[in-house]
Amino acid sequence: MTTRAAPRIVVAGSANMDLVGLAERLPLPGETVLGDDFVMMPGGKGANQAIAAARAGGQSVFLGAIGSDSFGVTLNARLNAAGVDVRHVRTSYGASGVAVIMVDHAGENSILVSPGANSTFTDLTEDEARVIASGDVLLCQQEIPVETVTAACRAARYGDTRTILNAAPARELPIELLELVDLLVVNELEAQTITGSATPDMAALLALVPRVVLTLGGAGARYAERDGRDETVPAFPVEATDTTAAGDAFTGALAVAWGEGRDLLEAVRWANAAGAACVRKLGASNALPTRAEIDEMIT
Ligand code: ATP
Repeated sequence: MTTRAAPRIVVAGSANMDLVGLAERLPLPGETVLGDDFVMMPGGKGANQAIAAARAGGQSVFLGAIGSDSFGVTLNARLNAAGVDVRHVRTSYGASGVAVIMVDHAGENSILVSPGANSTFTDLTEDEARVIASGDVLLCQQEIPVETVTAACRAARYGDTRTILNAAPARELPIELLELVDLLVVNELEAQTITGSATPDMAALLALVPRVVLTLGGAGARYAERDGRDETVPAFPVEATDTTAAGDAFTGALAVAWGEGRDLLEAVRWANAAGAACVRKLGASNALPTRAEIDEMIT
C-alpha cells in the first residue's frame, strides 16, 4: 500500500469538560478542603483522541454531542483550535459532559463524570454516516451509547473506512459490534474484561476480531493478527511524569499511521513514540504530542 499524507480520521465519541482541582489531600465525604491550582481543559476519550489524531498529522473530524451551556462553546472552540473539524458536532439542549477531577499532591485522584450531552448521542444521522464513510479510519471508544458505536462501525462498511475500537472504559462488547471491528485497541484490564480471563488472552481476543493491539504501559504494546504475526514492540524509555491520556495519544497516532498506509507493526512503534512523548509531560489533552514531537522520539 502506498503511503500518503493527512489521512482522514473520523472520531465518533465523547467530549467532556475536565475540571481539575489540585489540593494537598482529597476531601473526605462531607468535608471541604481548600485547594490550590485549578485547570479546565477538554477531555473525554473521543475529544482527546480527535485532538491526538489532529496533532499527529491527520485530518481529524469529530462526531459527538456537546451541551448548549458555556462548556459546550468552550469545548467546541478548543477542539477547533487544536485543528479538529467540528462542523458536524451536535449541540444538545442542556449540560455538556463534565468530569470533576480532584488530584492530591501524591497524584491520587477522585473523578466524577457526568455524561450530559454524550448520553444524547443515541443514533447516527445520514450526514454523520456519510462523514464516516468518507474517512480513511473510524475511531471509536466506549463513552457513548454502544448502539451508536455499532451504527458508526456499520456506516464505515459503506465506504472504504477501516474501523478501530478502543474498548475503553472496559465493558462487555456485543457480538454485532465486534463483527464490524477491524482493529481492537485495549489495555490489559480491558482485555481481561472482554474475555473474562484473569490475564490478557490474545487467542480469545483474536477469535472475536482480526487484529489486536494490547497496550502495556511502560512495556510498550503487543500487536497480533489472526493466523499471523504476534510481536511485542518495546516502549521508548522516557522519564514518566504523568501517564494521563497516554492511551489516547497512542490510539490517535496509531489511527493516523494506519490511515497513512503504514504497516501495523510500524504504526504501533510510532504510536509507542506518541505515548512516550505524552507521559513525559504533565496534563491530559495539553500533553498530546505533535507529529514533530513523535518523530523526534523515534530519531
Ligand atoms: P491511560 O488510561 O492512562 O490513558 P492506557 O491504560 O489506555 O492509558 P497504557 O498501556 O498505560 O494505556 O499506555 C499507552 C501507551 O503509552 C503504551 O502502550 C506506551 O506506548 C506508552 N506509555 C505508557 N506509559 C509509558 C511509560 N512509562 N514509558 C514509555 N511509554 C509509555
